[in-house]
Amino acid sequence: MRKSNICPSFSSKNCTGCWKCVSACPQKAIHRIGFLWHRHAALYRARCIGCNRCVAVCPEGCFTKRSGGQ
Ligand code: SF4
Ligand code: SF4
Repeated sequence: MRKSNICPSFSSKNCTGCWKCVSACPQKAIHRIGFLWHRHAALYRARCIGCNRCVAVCPEGCFTKRSGGQ
């Protein structure tokens, strides 16, 4: 299975920059983007192992589990 299929889909639209996902990710696949008031997470899919911890911790629902994930 291709990695892009196990990694959750991500939308930064509702991201508040709480960084819970950054702390939860065991792969350091989520990075902080910060520029003045513009704060949001960024997902680097190449590092992702599809554990879906980010899906569980995000209070804004920015991550969506893939059907092929665990
Ligand atoms: S699914 Fe797991 S490894 Fe992938 S970005 Fe989320 S917390 Fe990190
Ligand atoms: S947990 Fe959700 S709201 Fe918080 S920084 Fe990550 S994507 Fe943004």
